[in-house]
Amino acid sequence: MQHPFQATLAYATELDQKDTLNKFRNEFHFPQHQGKEVIYFCGNSLGLQPKNVAKAFETELNTWKEIAVGGYFNGPNPWLYFQEYLKPALSRLVGAKEKEVSAMNALTVNLHLLMLSFYKPTANRFKIIMEAGAFPSDQYAVETLVRHFGLNPDEAIIEIHPLDGAKTLTTQQITDTIKATGNELAMVLFGGINYYTGQFFDIASITKATHDVGAIAGFDLAHVTGNIPLELHDWNVDFAAWCSYKYLNAGPGATGGYFIHETHLDNPSINRLAGWWGNDESSRFKMEKGFIPKKDASSWNISTAQVFNMTALKASLEVIDKAGIKALREKSIALTNYLAFLLQQLSNINFEIITPSEPAQRGAQLSLYFKERGKEIHAKMIESGIIVDYREPGVIRVAPAPLYCGFADVYRFYEILKSNF
Ligand SMILES: *Cc1c(COP(=O)(O)O)cnc(C)c1O
Repeated sequence: MQHPFQATLAYATELDQKDTLNKFRNEFHFPQHQGKEVIYFCGNSLGLQPKNVAKAFETELNTWKEIAVGGYFNGPNPWLYFQEYLKPALSRLVGAKEKEVSAMNALTVNLHLLMLSFYKPTANRFKIIMEAGAFPSDQYAVETLVRHFGLNPDEAIIEIHPLDGAKTLTTQQITDTIKATGNELAMVLFGGINYYTGQFFDIASITKATHDVGAIAGFDLAHVTGNIPLELHDWNVDFAAWCSYKYLNAGPGATGGYFIHETHLDNPSINRLAGWWGNDESSRFKMEKGFIPKKDASSWNISTAQVFNMTALKASLEVIDKAGIKALREKSIALTNYLAFLLQQLSNINFEIITPSEPAQRGAQLSLYFKERGKEIHAKMIESGIIVDYREPGVIRVAPAPLYCGFADVYRFYEILKSNF
């Protein structure tokens, strides 16, 4: 899709007026800077607060206040089933059956739990492939997972680095590495989008290559869920996990989500580290010996639903669902293309956009690499009412989330960079 973009506020404002999702901006609270709404391009780190969240918390607080333990079975949203309320919207976001998704804990915890279920190293098959420069938490998780099995991370973990001179990976080099590792490969654990470069990986091709050598394909979708529509079921992804505070706008510490492909749900050879919340409901309160897993991905649930960590998620998913992930993605492509177009007009500051230029290989985020002065420029952006973040070495990440950011925000961002730097 080629846009005859123009670098004027009038043009950006016109795009906002034509945008059917523009009204969703009013459903969010914006922080203020000198009496004006900030330009919030940090939804890849912490999404803004949806206005319906306060009411949702009030509802649960009242249930607790008024009926206390009765809240598990009564009240507007009986707590016993709180994960269940999230499944329809989560399944639409990631392209899954409802029984393939659930929510619990937080992202890295869930990665550990899912990897413990799916990573079964043997003397010959024990290697794990991941992208070099993965999010540190994922690196620590994989490193300590292999140590847990008495293996040496240097031997067990293969990291794929960009080819000479490149900043990002090609699908070909990823699938070639998988093929070359062959029957020594136990598992691939890849980010869906790399947090630093903003590159969106070809999940379907990586999964297929992984299955072709008989290994398990797992993904960290922290930067994808709520950003790009997925088809995890059809792509035959084995497992995935994501957090809910980035593009899902469910607030700090919100409960994470996860996916387990249908084919694994009643496979007795896949062990869950279980707790009572994953046990079949009809026998859960008999308090008897012998774990009987539920028939769906909720069988990985361990503990009582973290109701207050799920309350904002439930409310925010309602907003996302109203907008629809396909419509959000369509707007997001235009918004980020407009951002890239405007950035190319700048000649007063020196940076390189390291995120792939092809929209199919990126989500909302563009990563601007500053060889020098990155930190200083970031500080100046913050002073100017622009909320973006800085990641070592030298990258300012700029992510206009389509649910609450508009074309005029992108234009104002450009104008500030053009005139103040
Ligand atoms: C944000 C992010 C995390 C954070 O994990 P938590 O356990 O929620 O703190 C992990 N991995 C990736 C790829 C992320 O982008």
